[in-house]
Amino acid sequence: MSDLFTQPLPDKLPCPFCGSTNLFPFNNTNCYIKCKDCWATGPIVFDKLDHGNEREAESIRRWNERR
Ligand SMILES: [Zn+2]
Repeated sequence: MSDLFTQPLPDKLPCPFCGSTNLFPFNNTNCYIKCKDCWATGPIVFDKLDHGNEREAESIRRWNERR
């Protein structure tokens, strides 16, 4: 597996609902960030961006854009 498409992952902002930083990426058919404390989930990133860790990076960006 090449590192060609891997990139530094963005920092995750704390959960907008409970302030927790106990967040983890759920990466299966789709990818999204989930809060371990209140089970809030970020916007789902679908399959199409599956290059290296691009899906996880995008799911973090979308999580961070939530207000
Ligand atoms: Zn939370």
